[in-house]
Amino acid sequence: MRVAVIGAGVIGLYTAYHLLKEGVEVDIYEARHKVGYSASTHNPGVLNVIQNPLGSFKTRLMLRGLELHREYSRDIGYNIMDTKLVLVYRRLGHRMISPLVPIYMKRYGIKFERIEGDTLKKKYYEVSPIFKGAFIVDGYGIVNPYEMLDRLASRVVELGGKIYFGRRIKRAESEPVIDGVEYDYIVIAAGPYTADIARTIDPNPPRQRFGKGIMVISSITIDYIIAEFNVFLSKYTKGGAVIPYYRGRWTILGPDFRWIDTKEIYEVSREEAEEVFNSYVYLLRDKPEIIDYFCGVRIINYPGNRWIIRKIGRYIMTYGIDSPGLTASPAIGEYITRHLIKVG
Ligand SMILES: Cc1cc2nc3c(=O)[nH]c(=O)nc-3n(C[C@H](O)[C@H](O)[C@H](O)COP(=O)(O)OP(=O)(O)OC[C@H]3O[C@@H](n4cnc5c(N)ncnc54)[C@H](O)[C@@H]3O)c2cc1C
Repeated sequence: MRVAVIGAGVIGLYTAYHLLKEGVEVDIYEARHKVGYSASTHNPGVLNVIQNPLGSFKTRLMLRGLELHREYSRDIGYNIMDTKLVLVYRRLGHRMISPLVPIYMKRYGIKFERIEGDTLKKKYYEVSPIFKGAFIVDGYGIVNPYEMLDRLASRVVELGGKIYFGRRIKRAESEPVIDGVEYDYIVIAAGPYTADIARTIDPNPPRQRFGKGIMVISSITIDYIIAEFNVFLSKYTKGGAVIPYYRGRWTILGPDFRWIDTKEIYEVSREEAEEVFNSYVYLLRDKPEIIDYFCGVRIINYPGNRWIIRKIGRYIMTYGIDSPGLTASPAIGEYITRHLIKVG
């Protein structure tokens, strides 16, 4: 079988990795001159354990992805920094508000404990004293997305995959042909541009809007994630947090969410960075300095903001894979590969 993958982000590369391991011939077409130009490198690199909506297709892929990252990171050669989530609450009553959290954690075998008062203060000193207790969730990871993408691309090439850089695919032809080469299947994994490319073969592409997720790098160093327990999380921000920075020093605050009219990554102004900083700094006992800031493009399929992996003829489209797509990427690659091997 011969398959083309459009887009060398984390989804395209992990799909190629799985296909190659099954003996499929794979060519990857990437518009830019490097891998993972877009969301795949503009994120804080969290391997998630909990994500909204609980129990959905998205979260099942995320949990499977988490498992596969731990298995494949050794073969591919990227590091995962083990960490935990300190999910803080302000009032003791809050821990009773959503019995869903412990139910979800137990159901998926996620290790967690509940701590309160002095134990929280002693064990997690950097957490602001306004919080009275926390769920401590184990099993989180932080990757350096640049390192991960780089190693993954090298492994894909070692396995025999070919990556064509600077090759922007404008449209899907009615037959799966690129540059005169006929493929058995073409996987379109071009992030925000998937819908533009697929428009010619998909009569009903999802409606999409775009946002930018702003992240601020701050001068404090911690080795765990701090987020506030919230029953009604926004499906766009997924809550935001204080996150250890993958370079070992510093911390990321955010991401926050803002609608944008383009799918190109915008610059971030100092005012926007300060707003985001101020939205999350309350989680910390001490106020750090702002070191730098950046943002990534978020794709929103609406209504519902669900991920859509759709097959039409000999094309597979990955629509709207936003957070936690980095965590889920090995599982998405596995899902697409299993399907293609099955249908031949
Ligand atoms: C702010 C933010 C924070 C996030 N935080 C997390 C997190 O902590 N944990 C987590 O698990 N996930 C997170 N995510 C989600 C995750 O980053 C994405 O789901 C994932 O990177 C999507 O990868 P992709 O390969 O689909 O897309 P992309 O990274 O967008 O890659 C698409 C690739 O296709 C190429 N391309 C585009 N058009 C064409 C074309 N016409 N022809 C050829 N190539 C083309 C692009 O150049 C690019 O390389 C976050 C995302 C954002 C934006």
